[in-house]
Order: sequence, then C-alpha cells, then structure tokens
Amino acid sequence: MADRCGPHPETRLMPQGQCCDNHHARPAVARVLVQSDDTGKVYADLCAVCYHQFQADRQLDELAAYLASNFQAPGPVIIH
Ligand SMILES: [Zn+2]
Repeated sequence: MADRCGPHPETRLMPQGQCCDNHHARPAVARVLVQSDDTGKVYADLCAVCYHQFQADRQLDELAAYLASNFQAPGPVIIH
C-alpha cells in the first residue's frame, strides 16, 4: 500500500476546507478511521460535535468490551 505513512493515522487533523460528513455546513475538525478491512480503509470527516460523539461511542465500546472480557455473567439463580 502506497498510502501508509506514519504510525496508524487513525485520527488526524483535517486539511482546511473539509466539511463534516453529517453536517455539510460545518467544518470538519478530524478524520477518523471508521472501517478497515480487505477492501481498504474508510475515513469519516467529522465536525467538533460529531467527533465528540464518536469518541464517546468508542469509549462505550471499549467499556463494553472490557466488561465482557473481565466479568462473567452470573449463572442462573437457583431459588430454594
Ligand atoms: Zn457533524
């Protein structure tokens, strides 16, 4: 791949003039990697509001993964 430059450019500052993918009237502040697979990488350009939401969602995902891997669901409760 020729476009691999720098260590994991998952989030990078936007060049001037880009607009948010969701709000076309707002300037984008960040470009984030939203998909990476065999077919390539998909980036989203996000404004400040969307970027904040993206970070919040990602933290929730990480929290859910952490909880799933560290805490077993309790077994069936047996009532005598
Ligand atoms: Zn936006």
